[in-house]
Amino acid sequence: MHHFFYKDGELFCEDVSLKKIASEVGTPCYIYSHATLTHHFRVFDGSFDAVPHIICFAVKANSNIGVLHVLGKLGAGADIVSGGELYRARKAGIPADRIVYSGVGKTIEEIDYALGEGILMFNIESSQELKVINERAGALGTKAPIAIRVNPDVDPRTHPYISTGMKKNKFGIDVDLALEEYRRAMELEHVEIVGVDCHIGSQLTELPPFVDALRRLKVLIERLHDIGISIRYLDLGGGLGIPYSDEKPPHPSEYAEALLHELKGVPYTLIFEPGRVIAGNAGILLTRILYIKETPLKKFLIVDAAMNDLIRPSLYGAYHHIQPVEIDGSRGEEIVDIVGPICETSDFLARDRKLQKCNSGEYLAVMSAGAYGFTMSSNYNSRPRAAEVLVKGDKYEVVRQRESWEDLVRLERIPTF
Ligand SMILES: *Cc1c(COP(=O)(O)O)cnc(C)c1O
Repeated sequence: MHHFFYKDGELFCEDVSLKKIASEVGTPCYIYSHATLTHHFRVFDGSFDAVPHIICFAVKANSNIGVLHVLGKLGAGADIVSGGELYRARKAGIPADRIVYSGVGKTIEEIDYALGEGILMFNIESSQELKVINERAGALGTKAPIAIRVNPDVDPRTHPYISTGMKKNKFGIDVDLALEEYRRAMELEHVEIVGVDCHIGSQLTELPPFVDALRRLKVLIERLHDIGISIRYLDLGGGLGIPYSDEKPPHPSEYAEALLHELKGVPYTLIFEPGRVIAGNAGILLTRILYIKETPLKKFLIVDAAMNDLIRPSLYGAYHHIQPVEIDGSRGEEIVDIVGPICETSDFLARDRKLQKCNSGEYLAVMSAGAYGFTMSSNYNSRPRAAEVLVKGDKYEVVRQRESWEDLVRLERIPTF
């Protein structure tokens, strides 16, 4: 469900014409729908109404402080994976006691910052990290609330680059070794065990991997109970997929039902870390056709957005639906590659795609680009990063300015020698 639709043949975000945004803000440009973000958050949150829970939006999916602020006001917490994300979440007004910190490589500087802010919990990913967090908490005269991120060894049946809960992945602590790690944590003076955590992957389109992981965690929680550890939080991570093309991921209410079925009467608060399912279909990437180029083999639409703006097609071969901003049924369709200006063959947004016949100067909307879009963008080929716009009803605001050429070199120096 989203609020991007055609009105008299022209694509709108809520009540704002995309052509209007393109002419005023320029392209390439990310456009997010306030109503869609709100709807997605409320549906997910509401699905767990029956039990105590906290929805910690995965900041890496969309870290614009304007977007985080909208979600924070709806009651969202944040799942962060760096000090930078903690800074953003706090800037956006998300309370520290709704922030969980995941990630395999937390630095001392980041750990100290999170301890100082008083976050809800650290999701521990290794024995060494546990030791360092204990030391830092001791040095700062505090106690670090921790959960151990368990690697439950389940196959999420998603793209290998975004599967995180298998034995061969770098994430979490093997479920068979987790009990030992908890025992070690019990001995540590400056950590307080508050939870159990897992996150098995992203863009999952079926429920069994989630349920299998949960069952393994339940066994662990029972064993923990036997050794005198009772947890306050069970963090089940994120990962629920969205329809990019013809995927049929479970609805959040089905996801909730399947999990809650396994969790009847449990005394702890559930934490979820959804990213994509909240923001993915709430954003698009708006781009303009620069040139149309025909080779003996192919027809290319060369657009002003590239792999530096949206890397998912190049990185994962991901599919994004692409729609003309203005539809004209009389033109007919053709098969094209939609490519950017970057000097890489992998710089494509779509290959062999059937699209309405278009002319240069016209606009295209790359759909489902609200998650892992702007956040994965770069300055490759010295391309300034795109603007980001948030639409609410008939209003829109630029929530991140387009970078300038000056911005590209702002932090650089020509050496004196
Ligand atoms: C990426 C990530 C998420 C969010 O995943 P989605 O598929 O966007 O829901 C949640 N938790 C952790 C630890 C992550 O790394």
